[in-house]
Amino acid sequence: MRPAKKNIQNGSICILGIPFDQNSSFLKGPSLAPKRIRESYFSESSNLWSEKGLDLGSIKNLYDLGDIDFKKDTDDFTRITNSVKNILNKNCHLICLGGDHSVTFPIIEAYAQQYDHLNILHLDAHPDLYDSLKGNIHSHACPFARIMEKKLAARLVQVGIRTMNGLQREQAQKFGVEVMEMKDGNIQLDELEFEGPVYLSLDLDCLDPAFAPGVSHHEPGGMTTRQVIDIIHQVKGKIIGADIVEYNPDRDIFSMTSMVAAKLLKEIITRIYEDTI
Ligand code: MN
Ligand code: MN
Repeated sequence: MRPAKKNIQNGSICILGIPFDQNSSFLKGPSLAPKRIRESYFSESSNLWSEKGLDLGSIKNLYDLGDIDFKKDTDDFTRITNSVKNILNKNCHLICLGGDHSVTFPIIEAYAQQYDHLNILHLDAHPDLYDSLKGNIHSHACPFARIMEKKLAARLVQVGIRTMNGLQREQAQKFGVEVMEMKDGNIQLDELEFEGPVYLSLDLDCLDPAFAPGVSHHEPGGMTTRQVIDIIHQVKGKIIGADIVEYNPDRDIFSMTSMVAAKLLKEIITRIYEDTI
């Protein structure tokens, strides 16, 4: 992952930071995440090889595009959509580092223009299907309601869910969301099969707080780091893009969670590299 020069080559894998937490309902902090995840990615406590045997330090066409600059006048979501669109137009594959989970809606608005029959695999403790939360329709608790009502995804499959309530169960039924709840036992990797492009949206609170304490919403009963890596390795389909969201450095302990985020990033880059190049 090297800083991008002026012109990135077509077909590259790109990393883009989205330092944005204006739609967090409980705590701020995820705007600090991209910088910290990058630091852990390059930490000398580990190395740049993924588990699958790819040396990420040596592959070409892997670029860090830096962070979106939100200081200018444009609407924040429009800025996110346009930034993503510019990258996808070059046939590049993008992994966004959030940011709170609200950023996934403007990201997917760009993907839906680029890909037909887009599937979304969403790992999270929360279904994020509220019509609105605290009067905010763009809360980080709402992105998948916005995505589904605009019909931006052919399928939405959620894994790791353990906060389902009546309202959100109704929303899941209304939108035809396929939900694998933690209460139902082992995640059936065999059932994670997609036709067509797959976008992976990875909210770090899908992990149990024991594995990833650096998130705003500690929800016990979650996945292990191993389970999430196994999903990244084994899901059947073609992963064409991803986000890693909701890392909150203010809640982290000795960078434990940013190391988890960085490791998952390495495995996702490898999966996209294998699937697309
Ligand atoms: Mn979420
Ligand atoms: Mn969540």
